[in-house]
Amino acid sequence: MQNIDWNGLGFKYMDTHCHVRYVWRDGKWSDAEFVGEPRMKMHIAASCLHYGQEAFEGLKAFRCRDGKVRVFRPEANAERMFNTARRACMAQVPVDMFVDAVKKAVKANEDYVPPYGTGGSMYIRPLLIGTGPQIGVAPADEYTFLVMVMPVGAYYKGGLKPVRALVVDDWDRAAPQGMGDVKVGGNYAASLFAHETAKHAGYPVELYLDAKTHTFVEEFATSNFIGITKDGAYVTPDSRSVLPSVTNRTLKQIAADLGMKVETRPVPFDEIETFAEVAACGTAVVVTPVCEITRGDRVIRIGDPDGCGPVLQKLYDTVQGIQYGLLPDTHGWCVEV
Ligand SMILES: *Cc1c(COP(=O)(O)O)cnc(C)c1O
Repeated sequence: MQNIDWNGLGFKYMDTHCHVRYVWRDGKWSDAEFVGEPRMKMHIAASCLHYGQEAFEGLKAFRCRDGKVRVFRPEANAERMFNTARRACMAQVPVDMFVDAVKKAVKANEDYVPPYGTGGSMYIRPLLIGTGPQIGVAPADEYTFLVMVMPVGAYYKGGLKPVRALVVDDWDRAAPQGMGDVKVGGNYAASLFAHETAKHAGYPVELYLDAKTHTFVEEFATSNFIGITKDGAYVTPDSRSVLPSVTNRTLKQIAADLGMKVETRPVPFDEIETFAEVAACGTAVVVTPVCEITRGDRVIRIGDPDGCGPVLQKLYDTVQGIQYGLLPDTHGWCVEV
């Protein structure tokens, strides 16, 4: 075990023993290499630096009650990165290789996985970049795939805390037929300015509407949108420019397992005020309850400003229960390392 203040961990970068790295050249991937040095030497004309050939993923490993370490749904992230790579004309990482790389990186840094009971986990960040030199606009002829890991703390110590959200009407995150549905760094570059603006105005999260008409809900900058109706249905927007969140997929399955109605469909902005509960969902936090959504002069209040609503709390507890091995993993989501 590392000498780390496990209860004081936040969500920030930390060096560990090593990352796992692969290089694609001449149509094939190299074997895994364990690299201790976190800085990499790169060609100054690498396509990731000039033309944004960059894809990433985010997932977690948990130390379960039985002491074993398990990764949550790595195949789902592998498939998503496979799709992202195709969209950005990058060499694709086979699903098996991705899952194996994730297991290798976690295993090699197992003493950095927070102990059971601290609420912490190991954040896993796979990265795929074009590293071949490219000055004319074209896909690179060399790619680097690496998996780094680091321990992170429980986001909310002492219960889920609702936040206020701001609707972004001055900028869009993703064009209707753009790259919103794949996980590329460029989407984040496109959203940082709005994020900083919202943060300075006192809103921790921003909500995007469809870029074409600004009448339908899409997603928060880094997490999907979930609404729970007054009669207990789970509603999430259906849009080509929403990033397919693994957490959202998981919550939908759990909601269905609990007998809830699950609706993936266009969600008009005006429907928000009818929801009993609203949340943002993603790997880092699982569920962030949203108690207020501001758009210009209009303020929509949803649920209890001091705590999480009962339906979202139940969904959250169920996911965490499966992740930490307290509830049966009936869908085979947890992969032992
Ligand atoms: C990564 C991401 C999410 C969350 O996806 P998870 O797989 O649940 O972590 C949601 N929206 C955007 C834009 C993202 O980049």
